[in-house]
Amino acid sequence: MRIVLMGAPGSGKGTQAQRLIERFGIPQISTGDLLREAAARGTPYGLRARAAMDSGALVADEIVLGIIRERLGQADAARGFILDGFPRNLPQAEALASMLDTIGKPLDVVVLFEVDYAEIVRRISGRRTCPRCGRVFNVHTHPPGTPPHCDQCDDRPKLVQRRDDEEVTVKRRLQVYEEQTRPLAEHYAAQGLLRVIQADAPVDVVTARLIEVLEPLERAQ
Ligand code: AMP
Repeated sequence: MRIVLMGAPGSGKGTQAQRLIERFGIPQISTGDLLREAAARGTPYGLRARAAMDSGALVADEIVLGIIRERLGQADAARGFILDGFPRNLPQAEALASMLDTIGKPLDVVVLFEVDYAEIVRRISGRRTCPRCGRVFNVHTHPPGTPPHCDQCDDRPKLVQRRDDEEVTVKRRLQVYEEQTRPLAEHYAAQGLLRVIQADAPVDVVTARLIEVLEPLERAQ
């Protein structure tokens, strides 16, 4: 299965992608995670990426496409993948299509997560991450204690807020989504690949909706 999860920041793509890994036996590929890792390692690309990420803008296509090309070439992606946060604009979508055409393995489906604006702002403001294991928590829905600590790591590290989850940056990210990413829905609808799910529901309900969309496609493989 070759799946793209699309949706605004905070719409739950990452959380759901993590749940699909086991169910479908394919990796989650999050360009946000890959870019944060590159920034943390201090690679030249990573440092350039960090400046864009901190401002809420998109990272240059040239950098993102280099990272994606390399990741898709790894062995575990040969059976399929869940793309989370990529593509985010039309040139990226076109570049992805041509990479996949070259290997004769086109996308199977693009799922758009619909969540209303107020809920997104609430989710993002509550999002906290464990600096050790990378697990994502939400102080509204999964209260991890006060002050918040990771309950999955032995030494219970204090959870941190992503720098780009601060309020001004979130506004910019939502604007970028509306202007550059959301129009991809029409692009994929025209190709018959788009499915839309309502994602402002509890996590388990959204997972069930997602599986309902994906299972028939899996059976058709
Ligand atoms: P995310 O973790 O998906 O919310 O991404 C965090 C940030 O990483 C975004 O606000 C962008 O600055 C950058 N980013 C992630 N994926 C992409 C992409 N496909 N194209 C450009 N920038 C990206």
